[in-house]
Amino acid sequence: MKVTLLGTGDAPGTPIIGCNCLTCQDGLKGGKSNRLRCSILVESEKGTILLDTGPDLRQQLLEHNIKHVDGVIWTHGHYDHFTGFGEFHRVQRKVDVYGLAETLDYILEYLAFLRPRRNNVKINETFEIIGLRITLFEVKHRPVSNPVGVIIEENGKKVVFTGDCERQIPQKSLEMIDSPDLLIADAIVPDSDVLHIKKHMDAKDALELAQKIKAKEVVFTHISHFFKPHSIAAQEFPMGYDGMQFVI
Ligand SMILES: [Zn+2]
Ligand SMILES: [Zn+2]
Ligand SMILES: [Zn+2]
Repeated sequence: MKVTLLGTGDAPGTPIIGCNCLTCQDGLKGGKSNRLRCSILVESEKGTILLDTGPDLRQQLLEHNIKHVDGVIWTHGHYDHFTGFGEFHRVQRKVDVYGLAETLDYILEYLAFLRPRRNNVKINETFEIIGLRITLFEVKHRPVSNPVGVIIEENGKKVVFTGDCERQIPQKSLEMIDSPDLLIADAIVPDSDVLHIKKHMDAKDALELAQKIKAKEVVFTHISHFFKPHSIAAQEFPMGYDGMQFVI
C-alpha cells in the first residue's frame, strides 16, 4: 500500500491566520512548515481511501490528482477531521463512510445536505475496504467520547494512525498496535509541560509510544506552529510534512 500525508497541521493549520512567529512565516513562504489540516490518503491496487477529511480537502484532492475515493474513515467528530467531506458535494456521489455509530451520528448531522453511504463500524472489529484490513482501536482524546485510531494491514504489513490521542492509551489498544511497520503519531507540540496541552501527545509521548510498541518507523502529524520551522525541527524529530509518502 501507499500512504500519503495530505495534511500534517493541527486544527488551525500553519500558518495560523494573524500569527507572525518564525514557523508561521516559514509556512507563509510555502515551505514544509506550511501544513494543511488532517487527512491521510491510503492507496492499494484496488482503490483509494481517506483517513479523516480535514477542511482543506479540495486543495488536497486537486494537488494529488485524486479522481475518486472509495471510502472515508473518520476517527472523531472534531472540525479539523471531517468538515472537508463537504467538498464531495457535486463532485462524487454516494461516498462510503466508516466510523463508530456515535461518531457518524454527529458528523452526518452536520453533513445533512449530502447523502454518503453510512457504514457503522464496531471498535476492535476488523473490516475490509479496497483489499485492506482495517481495525479501529480505542484512544483517549478529552472531551471526545469515542475517539479512535486506525490500524491498516495488507500482506503482513501494518500501518497505525493514532488519530488525535492523549498519551494514556488503553492496554488492549497497545497490544493491538504492537510492531507496526509505520506509526503515524499525533504530536502537537515539542513539550506539553510548557504549554499544558493534555488532549494530544507531545513529541516525547509520541517517541515513547513508538518505542513501547516497537514501531519500525514513526512519523509525526497534527503538528502545531509551536515546533520550530520544519527544516530545524526535522533535525531533532521525525517530522511529517504535507505530501510525504510511504510505500509499505
Ligand atoms: Zn485534530
Ligand atoms: Zn505561528
Ligand atoms: Zn481532535
